[in-house]
Amino acid sequence: MNNNHPLVFVVHKHDATTLHFDFRLQVGNVMPSWAIPKGPTLDPEIKRLAIRTPDHSLEYRNFEGVLPEGSYGAGPVMIWDEGYYFPEVEVSKGVRKTVEDSREGTKVMLEGLKKGEIKFKLFGKRLKGSFTMVRIKNFGKPNAWLMIKHKDEYVKKGFDANDKKFDKSIVSGRTMEEIRGS
Ligand code: MN
Repeated sequence: MNNNHPLVFVVHKHDATTLHFDFRLQVGNVMPSWAIPKGPTLDPEIKRLAIRTPDHSLEYRNFEGVLPEGSYGAGPVMIWDEGYYFPEVEVSKGVRKTVEDSREGTKVMLEGLKKGEIKFKLFGKRLKGSFTMVRIKNFGKPNAWLMIKHKDEYVKKGFDANDKKFDKSIVSGRTMEEIRGS
């Protein structure tokens, strides 16, 4: 891995059995993933449930299309957002710094995933700024996490990923229905 090449992320909008968003962060050569039923938000007052799902390959971030009938997750998949990110570490209470070296950042992320708490700053088209994800202990579902926006200059109150103004792919400009019909 090139240390100067930042780690990447993608958000897939996926209409399978139920509509959800798949959030995937590069860690090494794979992408740990979470299904977020209501989608990520830039509103720090809204905590989003995020269910950890199997890691995906790094190449999968470029996938947009239809998963065929009979396969797991059958239905259209849209690239809803993409970009790069820097892991963050807390240097003192409430003070975070970004880890811009990708090898060092990968280590930080692996430790955080094990511990059940990760922090990162996203540089996407729709998602920007600092977030945390924490594993929920003693929750009915295994692998349940929460995704929460930190307060910063990218906060947008009431941000809703399902809003009509975000209904097109940031790569192809297609809607879910256009992808479904392709
Ligand atoms: Mn999915």
